[in-house]
Amino acid sequence: MTGSRDTYGGYRARLVEQLRAQGIRDLAVLRAFAETPRHLFVPEGVRHRAYEDSSLPIGRGQTISQPFTQARYLETLALQGTERVLEVGTGSGYQTALLGALASQVFTIERVRVLAETAQAALKAAGVTNVSLLIGDGTLGWSAYAPYHAILVAAGGPEIPPPLVEQLAPSGRMIIPLGAKGAQTLTLVRRTEGGVSATPIGAARFVPLVGEHGFDA
Ligand code: SAM
Repeated sequence: MTGSRDTYGGYRARLVEQLRAQGIRDLAVLRAFAETPRHLFVPEGVRHRAYEDSSLPIGRGQTISQPFTQARYLETLALQGTERVLEVGTGSGYQTALLGALASQVFTIERVRVLAETAQAALKAAGVTNVSLLIGDGTLGWSAYAPYHAILVAAGGPEIPPPLVEQLAPSGRMIIPLGAKGAQTLTLVRRTEGGVSATPIGAARFVPLVGEHGFDA
């Protein structure tokens, strides 16, 4: 996925070491970070910072999330490689590419057209082929390809969007930041026989989830 003219390998290896030092243990997750070219997913102006463990601006007031946060997310989902995954909030497409390395098929939704188009181009440049992208309101999910074994919501919302629960497979798992704008709790949602269970995982600070089952624009 990284290509023969990739000169960022050393930076990427250092980032993986930092993730490991911070407690990320899932080898598949670490391998996905080692092989996914983050520099292709950030704007020119911040490319020199692509392998810092920090969030970076990607335009339209949005950010590519901090790698450590993304690694925690991915470790919690414990993907085996066979899953169909829904992602809400494509952003730069970087986490989408990581999901592509860890799951069988990825369906991703972004509400901001220009970000979606830039992400689509970056995914192509990175050689990611198992991703389908929809421009629209991800709080409604993508029913055509449901059910999903895992759902990852990359923006913070006030509630668990009911369509996403409906589109989660039995025993499926969803990770979503829940709470007020600017301060959320990362929450693991599981679909059970009786309904859903929600387990708080830790504090989070994501951009707002905007949509019918999110905040107003
Ligand atoms: N994980 C992404 C990455 O690696 O670049 C960063 C995601 S960014 C923190 C959150 C994204 O969610 C933004 O691009 C924002 O436009 C998008 N978003 C917010 N509400 C949404 C919605 N209802 N449906 C789809 N995308 C949404």
